[in-house]
Amino acid sequence: MNILPIPLKDKVVLITGASSGFGEDAAWLFAQEGCRVVLAARRIDRLRNLAAKIQDAGGEAIAVPMDIVNTDEIDNMVQTTIDLYDRIDILFNNAGIGRVGWFEQHEPDRDIDLLIKVNLIGSMRVTRMVLPHMLARREGHIINMSSVAGLTSAPLIASYAASKNGLRAFTDALRREVYPFGIKVSGIYPGPATTEFGSHVHGGNTYSSIRSRLGPRLSSEQVARWVIAVAKRPRRTLVIPWWYQPTVFLERYFPRLTDWGSYLFSKIKHKLD
Ligand code: NDP
Repeated sequence: MNILPIPLKDKVVLITGASSGFGEDAAWLFAQEGCRVVLAARRIDRLRNLAAKIQDAGGEAIAVPMDIVNTDEIDNMVQTTIDLYDRIDILFNNAGIGRVGWFEQHEPDRDIDLLIKVNLIGSMRVTRMVLPHMLARREGHIINMSSVAGLTSAPLIASYAASKNGLRAFTDALRREVYPFGIKVSGIYPGPATTEFGSHVHGGNTYSSIRSRLGPRLSSEQVARWVIAVAKRPRRTLVIPWWYQPTVFLERYFPRLTDWGSYLFSKIKHKLD
């Protein structure tokens, strides 16, 4: 970890999933640090409003419509950024969707394929397009938004956990691959936070009832502030809030305990459903 924070002024930051939640708040905070932010997602009206808000506050932002399952739109997003700024200093891979519920009830196209395409393959494809530009300059920072579900694999979120564990594996492998060439790669692993995420999750009722039992939630702004902190002082992994760290420790070193807790949870939940 860097001792002195990296100044973010004038950095070009590409953010996927910037139309709400962590992406929107991080975009605002990056802009306040003096970064030039490129906002990407499907809801272009939201992005334009955010870009206007940033510009009104004296910052620099552009909105680019992009569906992360569409390779041409990814290419267009990256090319637009390069044409405009000639570089990408920070890539924040943040776009994501969720699915909660018994796996046997997952609808294959929507709840399995799409989830993996958006949460894992999408971020990998964006990274693949951005990386050559960073490697050419021997500089850059890729920040991947995984989840605590990317370090622990809980029942009822099998597809989501698979996508976020996959993103963690990609993050770790890529970091080791590109570190010698001056590129940093970080993984962020938040617990539940208050954003629109729940309202987009299929199986939202189950999601709400589980989430309400998981204790206090992070705010979107808190997570966004951590993203900025990681950009200033790049680190391998960030698990937030801290009280999820013991859960991650248990999963890693005492998986039987996690299995046992999950077994009880699944049995009780199945009876209730
Ligand atoms: P939001 O639903 O508020 O934001 C999700 C963002 O992803 C939106 O900007 C959405 O934009 C974008 N997105 C979704 N699908 C696509 C797509 N096909 N193409 C392009 N963009 C897409 O949720 P959060 O801010 O909470 O989530 C951000 C990230 O954080 C996600 O990866 C999520 O998995 C992760 N996370 C969330 C947690 C939480 O509790 N909220 C906890 C841990 C991790 P649009 O719909 O306009 O395309």
